[in-house]
Amino acid sequence: RRRRRRREAEDERKRKAAAVVEEVERAFSTPTALLRGIADAMVEEMERGLRADLQAPLKMLISYVDNLPTGMEFRFRFGGNGNVGLFQIGYGALMDEHGLFYALDLGGTNFRVIRVQLGGREKRVVKQQYEEVSIPPHLMVGTSTELFDFIAAELEKFVRTEGEDFHLPDGKQRELGFTFSFPVHQTSISSGTLIKWTKGFCINGAVGEDVVAELSRAIERQGLDMKVTALVNDTVGTLAGGRYVDNDVVAAVILGTGTNAAYVEHANAIPKWNGLLPKSGNMVINMEWGNFRSDKLPLSEYDNALDFESLNPGEQVYEKMISGMYLGEIVRRILLKLAREASLFGDVVPPKLEQLFVLRTPDMSAMHHDTSHDLKHLGSKLKDILGVPDTSLEARYITLHVCDLVAERGARLAAAGIYGILKKLGKDKLPNDFSQQRTVVAMDGGLYEHYKKFSACLEATLTDLLGEEAASSVIVKLANDGSGIGAALLAASHSQYAEAA
Ligand code: BGC
Ligand code: MG
Repeated sequence: RRRRRRREAEDERKRKAAAVVEEVERAFSTPTALLRGIADAMVEEMERGLRADLQAPLKMLISYVDNLPTGMEFRFRFGGNGNVGLFQIGYGALMDEHGLFYALDLGGTNFRVIRVQLGGREKRVVKQQYEEVSIPPHLMVGTSTELFDFIAAELEKFVRTEGEDFHLPDGKQRELGFTFSFPVHQTSISSGTLIKWTKGFCINGAVGEDVVAELSRAIERQGLDMKVTALVNDTVGTLAGGRYVDNDVVAAVILGTGTNAAYVEHANAIPKWNGLLPKSGNMVINMEWGNFRSDKLPLSEYDNALDFESLNPGEQVYEKMISGMYLGEIVRRILLKLAREASLFGDVVPPKLEQLFVLRTPDMSAMHHDTSHDLKHLGSKLKDILGVPDTSLEARYITLHVCDLVAERGARLAAAGIYGILKKLGKDKLPNDFSQQRTVVAMDGGLYEHYKKFSACLEATLTDLLGEEAASSVIVKLANDGSGIGAALLAASHSQYAEAA
């Protein structure tokens, strides 16, 4: 009898687990029709943001980058039918910059200092070096002086290791492109004030301040003689770095700790731009798409709770469904519910599972990619993270399934965003003009780079949304570390020594 009671209890538990899983499946489903609606909402919000609507969730920030550096003077390509060759002049500013430039990339989990030696039109990037430092967590929530002093000190150390391959002409000051991956209201190519912090950052007194002025003061305090000549978002840096090697790059997307996109807009399609019409006719727009919201977004109870308990409630709604900082945390919340309501990990809820952000997205990814038949790697990850010595096979399969649901939803929502941008650019259809057959989206960020199931799902979804034919002209290209090089290139093209074009 006791055995029967135990079996009944176990069946009941399994039923509860299945019910929760079913509920999550429903809440996290993103049918293609929904994604199309989200893409259309994205286009609408893009237009709203370009009109200086203060209520618009998309800030659509003007980057002051109106000329993307291109390494190519012209390109040669073959048309689809009949091998017709044609020349086309690139539509960026031809990069003829020489010399040594630095870049500093701040915004995710790490920050990076970079130097490049540019050899002009012929040789382009002659040599580059970089160093990556992880940001001590206490600095993300400390004071801005502490943060900038830390960065400037690392920069100073890095400059001291400049070898003979790098060469600064006599009498010239070192110049730096600053990639700052937060929303900034730019006042010029080399100045701008912080609108708000995102991701794990939360530093009092920095909002509204000019980040270049703050960095410059910290650089001075280090006794370093260096001028910041470009301030760019990482998306804008990635776009510039991507365009330098591929003329068909029209947009850049970051899928890392946070998420965002930038693209090349026609300056006359930006009602809020009241400066001179740039010679190129174009302006790079930093969308700040992480803040996208729409009643079409399938927000679940887990998303709402995560948002409520986050450093920035009500903000970055789309980012919190997609990016690396949050995916693992969403999984944790679902597992916690399963542990509480269906004793997924035994009779007691593992205390560690209650800890915010204990499940990081790289660990989620590792579990999700476990292909062993009994999910033994996933099991040992769970053991390490949650401190549960043994997990049932059922618990491991459910965990795998939850990872799948959360990653897939994120990837599909991100694909919808990209599809929205392509629609806005009129690049969602196969062009008639074969000179414009390629549309390239430069992509960067650890989530996209390392989480293979995520990136594969994103690409498949984008193909699905575009249709096979149009998808054949769209290329998503990993532009690894493009943002740093891009910032150095923009620093060079806006150098104080650059000859006016
Ligand atoms: C920031 C963006 C940034 C993105 C990717 C977001 O949280 O608001 O400025 O581009 O993260 O780093
Ligand atoms: Mg980055």
